[in-house]
Amino acid sequence: MADLDAAVEDKAVRLQVAAARQEESGRGIARLPRSAFQALGITEGDTVEIHGKRTTAAIAMAAYDEDQSLDVVRLDGLQRNNAECGSGEHVRVTAAESRPASRVIFAPASREMRLQGPTQALKRNFFRRPLVAGDLVATTGQQPVQNMPAEVQRMFNAPAYALTQIRLTVVSTAPKGIVHIDENTEVELRAEFEEAPTGRAVVNYDDVGGMDDTIQQLREMVELPLRYPELFTRLGVDPPKGVLLHGPPGTGKTRLAQAVANESDAQFFTINGPEIMGSGYGESEKRLREVFEEATKHAPAIIFIDEIDSIAPKRAQVTGEAEKRLVAQLLTLMDGLEARSNLVVIAATNRPDAIDEALRRPGRFDREIVIGVPDEKGRREILSIHTRGMPLGDRVDLDELARVTHGFVGADIAALAREAAIDAVRRIMPKLNLDERTIPAEVLDELSVTREDFLSSLKR
Ligand code: ADP
Repeated sequence: MADLDAAVEDKAVRLQVAAARQEESGRGIARLPRSAFQALGITEGDTVEIHGKRTTAAIAMAAYDEDQSLDVVRLDGLQRNNAECGSGEHVRVTAAESRPASRVIFAPASREMRLQGPTQALKRNFFRRPLVAGDLVATTGQQPVQNMPAEVQRMFNAPAYALTQIRLTVVSTAPKGIVHIDENTEVELRAEFEEAPTGRAVVNYDDVGGMDDTIQQLREMVELPLRYPELFTRLGVDPPKGVLLHGPPGTGKTRLAQAVANESDAQFFTINGPEIMGSGYGESEKRLREVFEEATKHAPAIIFIDEIDSIAPKRAQVTGEAEKRLVAQLLTLMDGLEARSNLVVIAATNRPDAIDEALRRPGRFDREIVIGVPDEKGRREILSIHTRGMPLGDRVDLDELARVTHGFVGADIAALAREAAIDAVRRIMPKLNLDERTIPAEVLDELSVTREDFLSSLKR
C-alpha cells in the first residue's frame, strides 16, 4: 500500500499556465484537463500541488470544454504569484494531501489595510481550502475592515464591514506544509501588514478588466524583456526603455502598470507628475534622479510616471525655468539608461499632445499604447472584478449593468460597486447591535447586494 501511495505521489503532469476566468479569480482552484485527472488519479475537489519556481496548492476542478484538448492549467493571478510562474510558462502539477491545521495565522497583504475583528468570517471563507504558509490569498469579502468610506465608518462606529475582496498573507500554519482549516482550527488575524515572501502581487492582470489586447501588447513590450533579458541579447535587439500609456483618467493605467510590474516580478517605483513639480528649487530634479538610481539598483524594475504631461510639457510652451530643467533632466535620465539595464519606464497621460515631442524620440518613450474608455464587454469584465468578493442577490445581472453603464470608465464602475455595497450594509444596520464589535453570522449571511442597490446607486 505504501508503495502504491508513493507511486501515485510520483506522478506529475506538465501543463502550460493560462489565466483563470475573471469571475473565478481568488477562489484557489486550478482548472485541469480530464487527461490530467486521469494521469494523477484524482477527482474534482482533490488537492493538487502546483510546482513553478515555488510550490503552492490548489483545488482541482475540471477544465472548461474548450480547454479540454489543451495542455493548460488555469490559475489566477494570486496563484501564479504563489507558484512564481507567469502565463505561458510551464508548471508541474502533482496530487497532494492537505492536513487539517491546528492553527493558521493570516495578516493583511497591503500596508494600507488595517484589519480588525472576529475571525469566524475568515474561517468560513477559507474553510477546507488548501493553504501554504507564504501564500497570498484573497477572501471573498465580508471581512471587517477599517479603511471603509467615512460614511460607513460613522454608521458603525466600530470596524466597518467591507464587501470586497481582501488580500491576505498566510503568515504561518501548524503543521507546516499544505493544510486546510476545519472546525477545530484556531485562526488568527494579525492587525499589521505582512508582506508575502512571494512578492508584492497585490494587483495583477486579473484585476484589470477589458484590456486583453493591451495586456498582450504590454506583456510583449515590458514583461518579456524584463523576464527574459537573454532573449533580447541573443537577438541583438534592444528592448524598449519607455512606454507611453495614454487615455482618460480612471481607465486603469496605474493599475495596469502595477499589474505588469507584479507579473514581471519587477520592483515598482512611482513618480507622480504634479507632486514632483511641487517640490522646491532643484528638489524636483533630485527626486527624479533618486528614483532612477533606486530603480536601477533594484532591477528588474518599472518606473511609473503618472501625469507625465505635468513634468514634461512642450518646452516651447513652457515659460518657467523649473519646468525646462525638469524636462531636460528626464531626457538625460532616459538617455542615460542602458538599453539592457532591465528597467522600463512607463508613463501615463491623458493629454498626449501636451507632451514635449523630444520625449517620444527613439530610445525614449518610443512605444505608445492607447487606453480607451471600455466598451460593453470591457465594462462587464470590470464589473465582475469589482463585485468579485460580493454576495450578489439573485437578480443582479452584470450583463444588464454593463449595458446601462455606457461611458463609464473603470474608476466609475468601481465607485458604483462600492456604493451599491454600502446600500446593502445600510439595510442590515437595524439588525446590528452597535455596542458589539462583531456581526452575528446570521446577519452576515443575509447580507447581499441587490439589483436595486446597483440601480439606485446608478441614479446618484
Ligand atoms: P488611471 O491611472 O487611468 O487614472 P487608475 O488605474 O488609477 O486609473 O484607476 C482607478 C481605479 O479605478 C482603480 O483602482 C480601479 O479600482 C478602477 N479601475 C480603473 N480601470 C479599471 C479596469 N480597467 N479594470 C478594473 N478596475 C479599474
